Amino acid sequence: RAKSDGRSTYRFFENQMDSEVREKRMIEAELRGAIARGELVLHYQPLVNADDGQPTGFEALVRWNHPTRGLVPPADFIAIAEQSDLIVDIGDWTINQACLAASSWPDHLTVAVNLSARHFRRSDIGGVVETALRRSGLAPERLEIEITEGLLIENPEEVIEKLGEIRALGVTIAMDDFGTGYSSLSYLLKFPFDKIKIDRSFVVASTNDPIARDILRAIATMAKTLKLRITAEGVETAEQAAFLSEIACHQLQGFYFARPLSQADLPAYLLASIPAEAHEERFPQALAS
Ligand code: C2E
Ligand code: MG
Ligand code: MG
Ligand code: MG
Repeated sequence: RAKSDGRSTYRFFENQMDSEVREKRMIEAELRGAIARGELVLHYQPLVNADDGQPTGFEALVRWNHPTRGLVPPADFIAIAEQSDLIVDIGDWTINQACLAASSWPDHLTVAVNLSARHFRRSDIGGVVETALRRSGLAPERLEIEITEGLLIENPEEVIEKLGEIRALGVTIAMDDFGTGYSSLSYLLKFPFDKIKIDRSFVVASTNDPIARDILRAIATMAKTLKLRITAEGVETAEQAAFLSEIACHQLQGFYFARPLSQADLPAYLLASIPAEAHEERFPQALAS
């Protein structure tokens, strides 16, 4: 009896694994045509100035507008795309699309694009960025590239060289999810970053955990010494925003300020974010009517 139970348990897991593999293959196959069918969309989450809450730019976040599954979040397909060269196609599409969108925004707003490590390694990424800038006409100073520490583990020399190429164009390089990877400090000294984005997990913990607040203070001090800009992500409460601004984070991002917005929702958000006095100066006719 015990034996047959074991066998059925084994079969249960085998079936389970089969269906996971099948699901993954299906997503991969569908994803292959998704770009051509126009199913990928970018949403844009505001990054705000820590001093006054005013938007300084947006982070482009990809979603898959699937005909039956609905709006699929990146967590459900980016890792699958990263297992093949699909991520190169998605990355190329994303950076071109983000630069094009940003070229129609007011000039002071930046756009940040996430690049996956595999895309970075598998392509002439400097050329990809340069082409996206040229095609869109976006000023390089308005583009930021976000990469995670995972990128730095293999072939650091090659990565330094490629980051250098992108930076030479005038583009900003940010280290995303800072604090979640390995050897953060030594990497920070070695690699050409302009900015770190403190991971959401520290921001969440800061609410109840004094040690998390000490760590955040230490990160802020270190970033200042290294002349790096700091963004904190995942800010959900006024209390977190106040603390992060007090320890001199430059920029904040999170649901407390705004969720990722569709391209169509950007104008209304931007209009609403303009302070009353500035609004009067810039749009006197709007007040007259
Ligand atoms: P990320 O780059 O760290 O982006 C921030 C994520 O945190 C976004 O999730 C955003 O919606 C979410 N977030 C922002 N503020 C808050 C908050 O206050 N609370 C909470 N709970 N979450 C918040 P999203 O859009 O699901 O993206 C997840 C990850 O997928 C991104 O993390 C990034 O690593 C990856 N990703 C997104 N778009 C792309 C892309 O175009 N290319 C690549 N390679 N990766 C992407
Ligand atoms: Mg990011
Ligand atoms: Mg992040
Ligand atoms: Mg994150």
